[in-house]
Amino acid sequence: MYTLDQLNSIVKRCKRCPLYRTRTNAVFGEGNPNAKMMFVGEGPGFNEDMMGRPFVGRAGQLLDNMMESVGIKREEVYITNIVKCRPPNNRNPYEDESKLCIEFLRWQVKIIDPDIIVCLGAVSARNIIHKDFKITKDRGVWYKKGKFNIIATYHPAALLRDESKMEDAWEDFKNIKKKYDEVLNSKV
Ligand code: URA
Repeated sequence: MYTLDQLNSIVKRCKRCPLYRTRTNAVFGEGNPNAKMMFVGEGPGFNEDMMGRPFVGRAGQLLDNMMESVGIKREEVYITNIVKCRPPNNRNPYEDESKLCIEFLRWQVKIIDPDIIVCLGAVSARNIIHKDFKITKDRGVWYKKGKFNIIATYHPAALLRDESKMEDAWEDFKNIKKKYDEVLNSKV
């Protein structure tokens, strides 16, 4: 079993797929190592690649606001992505890139051992829930896989592009907070 720090240093040196050639920084993830809830995005964008931190650009600010509005603190949860290196021009990660990189996410999940996993966007949901996931149709529904309660909502970048999705996203965040409270209350 690795520690998160060991895994992080492996990811920082990773050359398993060509994305390492164009990265500035690998973005491992950050947050509470004992989090009960993990948020998983798609992959770093421009700002994340520059800073080496997940969700720090405009999409990240929206994510922070949405979490805060329903009473979830960013530092309570753990935030990471399916791929740890930025795909050029923010294209979607290719299937083989995701397949190789998701091993790191599996380790992160094993170490952090959350009860809830929130997939942000279709790429995340297709890699974590099922490969034919349709975000418009299948979002907002809880899936149980082993001990994990998993849900997908819109990626915050999609909300920035299309505000009409916002109402559904709010419902999802309220639903996520409700499950989060249930989990926290069941542990006391
Ligand atoms: N979009 C993502 O999917 N992940 C980030 O870290 C930032 C933007």
